[in-house]
Amino acid sequence: MKILLIVALFLSSTATAQMHYTVSVDTPYYHVQLNAGGIATDSVLFKMPVWTPGYYQLMNYAEQVYHFSARDTAGNTLPFEKRAPNGWMVYTGKNTSIILEYDVKSTRPFVAANFLSKDRGYISPAGMFMHISGQIKQRVTLVIKRLPGWNLATSLYQEKGKEGFYAVDFDILYDSPILMGKLEELPDFKVGGIPHYFVAYNAGEFDQLQFIKDLQKIVQAGVDVIGEVPYTHYTFLAIGPGGGGIEHLNSASISFNGAGLQTREGKIRIYNFLAHEYFHHYNVKRIRPIELGPFDYDNGSKTRLLWISEGFTVYYEYLMVKRAGLTTPEDVYKALSTNIRAYESKPGRLEQSVAAASYETWADGPFGRSGGVSYYDKGPVIGAMLDLKIRHETNNKRSLDDVMRALYQQYYKQAGRGFTEAEFRTVCEKIAGVELTELFEYANTVKPLDYRKYFGYAGLELTADFELKPITQPNALQIAILKDWLR
Ligand SMILES: [Zn+2]
Repeated sequence: MKILLIVALFLSSTATAQMHYTVSVDTPYYHVQLNAGGIATDSVLFKMPVWTPGYYQLMNYAEQVYHFSARDTAGNTLPFEKRAPNGWMVYTGKNTSIILEYDVKSTRPFVAANFLSKDRGYISPAGMFMHISGQIKQRVTLVIKRLPGWNLATSLYQEKGKEGFYAVDFDILYDSPILMGKLEELPDFKVGGIPHYFVAYNAGEFDQLQFIKDLQKIVQAGVDVIGEVPYTHYTFLAIGPGGGGIEHLNSASISFNGAGLQTREGKIRIYNFLAHEYFHHYNVKRIRPIELGPFDYDNGSKTRLLWISEGFTVYYEYLMVKRAGLTTPEDVYKALSTNIRAYESKPGRLEQSVAAASYETWADGPFGRSGGVSYYDKGPVIGAMLDLKIRHETNNKRSLDDVMRALYQQYYKQAGRGFTEAEFRTVCEKIAGVELTELFEYANTVKPLDYRKYFGYAGLELTADFELKPITQPNALQIAILKDWLR
């Protein structure tokens, strides 16, 4: 089957390429060559990020770098020394152009790591490409020399008239994973007139046409929340069976096994997961806490607001798949019950706020410390409570969707930056028309959650076993809220 290149949009740029990468394949290593030009100092510090945005854990990519060397364009070796765990200081000897070479060991099949085998390759760019310290905003070009018979998928732009790709800066490069190998391209689809692609390695057996039809509805449900598609193309990169996903501005890297779509339960799990990664291109990539950009590639970027960026994205999974017509209200009750039960079963809920769990995730691990609070559980529950509170206070005229839209307009589009917690709260309270003190206490303290009150706004109650179920005699507003909430 003929595949791609996915992206063939040509944008002109007047900047001269200063950083040019050539990557070739030598399993289990990627061999990397950097031709760096326009150098004006007699020493240059090259840095490899310690993490990749979207996965809030130290990855120590520099540990996978082997056989580092530097030379001038005449082939004379240049001295270098290791500076910091992720830095290499190269002494340029007054050369304005130098060449680096190194190998990156790539053995972990994971969305935040580099991987290479005889039939596929995956590049998590933050772990592959070094930048000059302090020069993230530099344009970069790259050529990937893949094996014969391999296809390649990425959201990077292709260089006009050339075989390679470019990124306007290293932030974009680090946001653009590359999948290659014997790939399969599922039928593409449009939402809002914009093409969406799904490219997979080892996708498994399933009804592709039905799957793409469903995925289109899920994407549409996500777009309908904000009302605008902010990219010119979007690609799901399915890297093969495994676990995990990472969101990007116009792509998502996902572990995927289509065989899981054979059961209803498996289908809901996969659809929720895809909805989650997709919705992140709004919530965290564009609608974001102020700490998450510009990124600190040397230390990680810590924020107390992952209960919004991750937690609300979990909540929107449920809403999007429901609004796509692929689940029932009972499925949403069940999903929220699972979150509530997980949260209530953790002794750490009485010691650690979800805001603290967000800040401490770098030390505690992606799902929180053992017995501690996870923003993947408490976050969506607060999201649901906030949504129902806004609906209750506004006679069901406004909702959390209005909050997300307002954040997108005010902070992403107009201010071009992230929001502080105070700004987030102001937007919520303005839309609700009331103070929301208690909900923000739920985020920042260990105060017990009043499920009865908040889920009661939709005419729901919580059983002793944390099951959500409708009450027998709801009033008119409760009926209206429930109907519109899970439309
Ligand atoms: Zn997420």
